[in-house]
Amino acid sequence: MSQIEDYTMVPPKEKNSVKDRPSMIDIISSETYDSLKKEAEQKSTSLRRHTNNILDYHFEKQELLKKMLPDLEVIMFREGLIYVMDSRRNSVAKIGLGEKFFHCDLCKKSDCVHVLLAMTQDELPKVERLPNKK
Ligand SMILES: [Zn+2]
Repeated sequence: MSQIEDYTMVPPKEKNSVKDRPSMIDIISSETYDSLKKEAEQKSTSLRRHTNNILDYHFEKQELLKKMLPDLEVIMFREGLIYVMDSRRNSVAKIGLGEKFFHCDLCKKSDCVHVLLAMTQDELPKVERLPNKK
């Protein structure tokens, strides 16, 4: 497979009739590309298959979490904090970094279900310190 083919991802052939679907996805970050390629090699699969697996798992994970935690919903990521709506408590939990770990401002602890859900989010590496934890 050539370098150009490695960078190009095309939707499944049977679904090519969808007109508004982009036909290619570029991996913008060279560090991400290198990491994906290394992981694919370790798993003895192609870069294309490995990247598709990551995307499939992302959406399957979201569906699984909705089923397992039906009272909780991540409603936004803003200013370095993950906001989780807790419909059972009718409250929003803000998750950010505490002194040593992720911290929930609603429960005032680090081992609650809100922190657990926040830790499954793709934005996790971008989480910043909670304003009251400076
Ligand atoms: Zn909490």
